[in-house]
Amino acid sequence: MKGLFPITRRKKVSIPALFAAIILGIAAWFFASDPERSPGGLNIPSGDFISSETGSVSVYYLDVGQGDSELICLPTGENILIDAGLSEGADQLTTYLGQLGVRKIDYLIATHPHADHIGGMAKVISNLEIGKIYVPKVADSQVPTTRVYENMLDAVEKKGLRLTQGKAGMTVLEQDNTRLEFLAPVEDEYNDLNNYSIVAKLTFGKRTFLFTGDAEKESEQQMVKKYADSLRSDVLKVCHHGSSSSSSAGFLKAVAPKYAIISCGKDNDYGHPNKEVLTRLANVGAEVYRTDEQGTILVSSDGTDLTVKTGLPLLAAS
Ligand SMILES: [Zn+2]
Repeated sequence: MKGLFPITRRKKVSIPALFAAIILGIAAWFFASDPERSPGGLNIPSGDFISSETGSVSVYYLDVGQGDSELICLPTGENILIDAGLSEGADQLTTYLGQLGVRKIDYLIATHPHADHIGGMAKVISNLEIGKIYVPKVADSQVPTTRVYENMLDAVEKKGLRLTQGKAGMTVLEQDNTRLEFLAPVEDEYNDLNNYSIVAKLTFGKRTFLFTGDAEKESEQQMVKKYADSLRSDVLKVCHHGSSSSSSAGFLKAVAPKYAIISCGKDNDYGHPNKEVLTRLANVGAEVYRTDEQGTILVSSDGTDLTVKTGLPLLAAS
C-alpha cells in the first residue's frame, strides 16, 4: 500500500483563497474542537513490571484519563500504537513507552482527529522512530484547524513522514500467526467525526482483539453488515469510552467479547461509561474492565490463553 495523502491543512484564509483551495481540490482529513476533554487522571504505570514473554503478545490499554491509547507489543519486537491520549499526558506516555523499551512504533494509528485520541501524537512522533502512520480521510469541510491537529502535522512534516489512509478492508500486517486489519470506516463520509474512526482487528493465533476508537452506532451497523462472520473478538475496546451512542446490541452480539475494556477518565464530565452500555455488555456475557477504576489494563496471550492484569504500578507524575 503506498503512502498517501500529502499532508493537508485547512488554512485560515481569505474567501478568494478559500475558493482557490476548493478549486484545487485540496484533500484532507480531520476535525473540529474536541467535545470530550476532561482532566481525568493520568495513571500510567511504570515500566518495570512487564516485559513481553517470548512468543506472546502484550496489549496495554493505557490509563490516559478521559482518552484512548492502546499499545500492542508483538513477539517479533514490532509495536503498534493506537491513539495517544490527551496532549496533557504526552510526556507521561512517551516516558512510559521508553521505560518499556519501546523505541519504535512500527504502526501508528490515529483512529480519528479528536484531541483525546491524537493529543499525544506530536510528542510520540517527535520522540520515537515511526514506521507507518494511519489516519482516516475525512471530508474536506471537516478538516480540523485545532492546535493538536496542527502540532501532529508539524511533527509528521518535520520527520519527512507521510500519512496513509486507513479504511475498511485493509490488511496492515500479516505474518506467521499475526494479522492486523481494518474493519472501518466503511464509508467515505459521515456527519460525525467519531464514525470516521479506524476500527482495527488484531488476530494472534486463536485470539482476537478489536480496537474501535470512538465508532458510534452508524459505523457499528455498517461493520455488522459487512463483517457479519468476522467481527467476533475475544477482547473488545468498547467504542467511544462507553458512551450510549455506541455499543448497540446488534454490534455487541456480533462481537461477543469475553473481555470488554472501557477507557475513560475518573469522574469524567460525560458520564462515561453509560449504565445502559454496562447492561448491554453484561447481556452478552462480557467481563468488563475500566481504566478509570483499574488503571492501565494489560491483556496478554500466547495465541491460545488470555491473561488480564490490573493493579499495575503507577508512573510518578511528570
Ligand atoms: Zn474519544
